[in-house]
Amino acid sequence: MSRYAEPMARLIEELKKLPGVGTKSAQRYAFHILRGSDDDAIALADAVRGVKAGLRLCSICNNITDIDPCAYCASPTRNRRLVCVVEEPTNIEAVERSRGYQGVYHVLHGTLSPLHGVGPDQLRTSTLLERVERGEADEIILATSPTLEGEATANWLASALHSLPVRVTRIATGVPAGSDIEYADEVTMARALEGRREV
Ligand SMILES: [Zn+2]
Repeated sequence: MSRYAEPMARLIEELKKLPGVGTKSAQRYAFHILRGSDDDAIALADAVRGVKAGLRLCSICNNITDIDPCAYCASPTRNRRLVCVVEEPTNIEAVERSRGYQGVYHVLHGTLSPLHGVGPDQLRTSTLLERVERGEADEIILATSPTLEGEATANWLASALHSLPVRVTRIATGVPAGSDIEYADEVTMARALEGRREV
């Protein structure tokens, strides 16, 4: 039997499902919520509910958005013919931090990982290929991370795009090899974009 009252044990169990949250942290968060005001607890619960009810994937680029198309795809100042391919929606922030990028995005929601049974069919690549087939892009920048999976994904996309009328480039390895582009600082990311090369 848990040493906590049922509602507390339930909150701790749910918090433990978050990445990087162990039993100790979950207990600390749960007690923080319990000690806080009713308003704060309701605001947290509403925010959690709202993220599931109000967000969806952009029908053009797969970014997580509350409006479809997303703000990048709908922006009149963005170059829609320049498409930066990233693994996860959070990677868009890393590219945006470099400030120089004025194109749009395509989010794969993962990388190829044969070891974990993730093949090309499990990635969201079809809308990207369709965009290129319709002649809607001049350049595709492959900005997947320089990890084993990220490189495999970039190679697969480069060959899938090879016969199509589009320039395909890969970001330079200014991003430390084996690391995630999510953690690239703005200068590193700007250099990685500037130094991109044709593949
Ligand atoms: Zn979009």
